[in-house]
Parts: sequence; structure tokens; C-alpha cells
Amino acid sequence: MEYEDQVQHVPNPKYDCLLFDVDDTLYPLNSGLSAECTKNIIEYMINKLGMEEEKAPEMCVQLYKDYGTTMAGLKAIGYDFDYDDYHSFVHGRLPYEILKPDPILKKILQSLPIRKVIFSNANKEHIAKVLGRLGLEDCFEGVVCFETLNPIKKTDIPDAKAAFELNGSKSSTIRSTVTDFIDDSCETNAELPKTPIVCKPFEDAFELALKIAKINPQRTLFFDDSIRNLQTAKLMGLHTVWVGHSKLTKGVDYALESIHNIKEALPELCEAIEKIEDIRFLEKVAIETSA
Ligand SMILES: [Mg+2]
Repeated sequence: MEYEDQVQHVPNPKYDCLLFDVDDTLYPLNSGLSAECTKNIIEYMINKLGMEEEKAPEMCVQLYKDYGTTMAGLKAIGYDFDYDDYHSFVHGRLPYEILKPDPILKKILQSLPIRKVIFSNANKEHIAKVLGRLGLEDCFEGVVCFETLNPIKKTDIPDAKAAFELNGSKSSTIRSTVTDFIDDSCETNAELPKTPIVCKPFEDAFELALKIAKINPQRTLFFDDSIRNLQTAKLMGLHTVWVGHSKLTKGVDYALESIHNIKEALPELCEAIEKIEDIRFLEKVAIETSA
């Protein structure tokens, strides 16, 4: 099913967009993929950046906590490395085969007739591989990813719209827009060294993602497994769903143990869909009866 076919009109919906993180949100934490990713990051820190073996694991966790991604933290504390080299080492060697197709989630996503967009700190290739393994590659209108938030080239595409990776389209760059956001982001946390990387959970990443994907936060439901990401999202006006957790906490509107329970966070939308289906059924019966 083409993505365009899945977006239909629902009268007066509460939301007009669903925004999704990828890792540990569209698949469960216990898949083991994130643990493999952490192993690769620690290996990169030791083998490529020359960090001490005993200190790297703790540093990996601390930088992740402080900056949203370990990569952003490493850049902030002065390590110089190539983004592509990092991503190919950390993500390029992941055992993606441990992720299995998820036809249940695919069916649920395809049944929800509103915009669905990805917003992840990961790089484009990783996201494409994950969505491909899960069988969800046709379920999203577009992807806001590392390259969207941190373009390398200075020229090419002048407007932000072009950097939003529409389903199946090529990526582009929007350096001029992002430069402004990077300058603003430097004020995000005065106590920590600044990172040049734009990523969740910082407000500048959300501002840019909302702008690029043309998302109205008040009418968008954001799904993520990271409480920090959700708390920023809440401040930005988004409605929030904590995936992989069952208890509500500050900054969280809904908590879902599994993304398969997505409809629990969308009672109004599901009710509207059911009404439409009922009307269609009654119309069909009326036509058949009068024929
Ligand atoms: Mg995640």
C-alpha cells in the first residue's frame, strides 16, 4: 500500500500527525539491538579515539545522558572524528537480522489515517535498515534524522522543506537554516561544553524537526522511549507517549508497554475511524438493499 493511500480524512481529529522515534520505540529494547550498538560505541571510543578501556563504558553512558547521544557528547568534549566513520563503525556492523518483520505494527500504522513521520537522532542508513527489517518502510511520510538536523554541505538546497526526507526520495542539505539552529543550541546548557551536533532532547532539534516536517506540535502525538526526549517535547507543546513503560510520569500523557498498544493513546481517532467505517457499511447496505 502506498503511503498516500493511507492518509484519508477524519472529521475534526484531535491530532493530524504522529511523530515516532525509531530505536527502542518501533521495536522493543529487549531485541538486543541497542545493546549491540552500545558495545560498538564503546569499541569506537577505545579503538578509534584512544580512550582508556576502563573509563569508556562509564563515559559512554554519561555522555549519552548529558547530550542525548554519545556522539554529540564526544564532539562536545573535544574529540574530532568523521560522522560517517562513526556511523559506519557503530551502526554499519549491527546484527540487523535480529529484528523481525512486524506485520501487526504495520497493519496498525496503515489503519491510522493521519500523517506519520519519523524523528530520530540516528543516521539515515540505520533508520532505513531498521524500517526495512521491520517491514515498515512504506508506513511513514518522511524521516527527520541525523543528516537532516546536521547537514554537511553548505549549498545545494536553500529551503528547509527539501531536507525533509520524503518517503523514497533522496536526502538534501539545509546548512543555512541549521547554522542558525546550531548557534541557538549553544545556549541550551551553560554548564556543559557545547556540542556542534543538533539532536534530541534539545529544543533546537525539535524546533528544526517541526519546521522541516511542517508539524503543528499542538496537534501531534510524539512517541519515544526516552523520558528526556518526551519532556522536551512536552515543553514544545507536543502530546507525548512513553513507549516501553507502563507508568505515567512528568511530561508524559500516555505510557505504553508496547508500540502495539498504540491505539490506547488514540481513543478519539479510533472512535472517528470506527464511525466512518460504520457509515460506509450502512451506505453499502443501503445501496445493496435498494438495488
Ligand atoms: Mg529511542
